[in-house]
Amino acid sequence: MNNPETVIILGTAHRKREPGKQSPDGRLKEYIYSREIVGEVKAKLETYGYRVFVDFDKDDLPKEMQTPSSKLERQRELAMRVNYVNEMCQKYGKAKCIYVSIHVNAVGSDGKWHDARGWSVYTSPGKTKADALATCIWNAADKNLPHSSRHAIRADWSDGDPDFEAKLYVLTRTSCPAVLTENLFQDNSDDVDFLLSDEGRHAIERLHIEGIINYIESL
Ligand SMILES: [Zn+2]
Repeated sequence: MNNPETVIILGTAHRKREPGKQSPDGRLKEYIYSREIVGEVKAKLETYGYRVFVDFDKDDLPKEMQTPSSKLERQRELAMRVNYVNEMCQKYGKAKCIYVSIHVNAVGSDGKWHDARGWSVYTSPGKTKADALATCIWNAADKNLPHSSRHAIRADWSDGDPDFEAKLYVLTRTSCPAVLTENLFQDNSDDVDFLLSDEGRHAIERLHIEGIINYIESL
């Protein structure tokens, strides 16, 4: 039933020192929320017997890698994430690894609330194995998010599957199938209410757990 051979690498979002990346009222900080969801998804998948790793579980870079330049820090963070994933791919074989990075979307960076809302999943451009992984997680999102947020599940069907494509560093530089989820919007107040509720947290956790397991069982 399960495939204990598969190595699941979960990706956290950003860092404590990354500017912005929070709800306008500061209730939801993306780096904290992502690490909490990643922790719960990891624990649950491990109880099912899967091997799960996290690309960057600390809140920030080690002291000696911090600099006044947030651009340079961001480059160092992304390089650390990609190196971690690719080292796992070398160790276990890239055909056995998958990478799922868990984020919360934002439409503005002006510190104000906005109307955009909804859930989406990204892959790197072109047809890859990540498309099947993204479709499994998208289907689980469609099933697990309640109607109020489900009507805002976003899809780009132009290439025959529901994922969006973007040249995101952690998707294009990693050697195994890699996807990035944007779990509703941190600058939409209804989405933030839902994300921080018990119901919301469980739905976000479940959609990743079910999507990942459904993909692995389809291999
Ligand atoms: Zn993010």
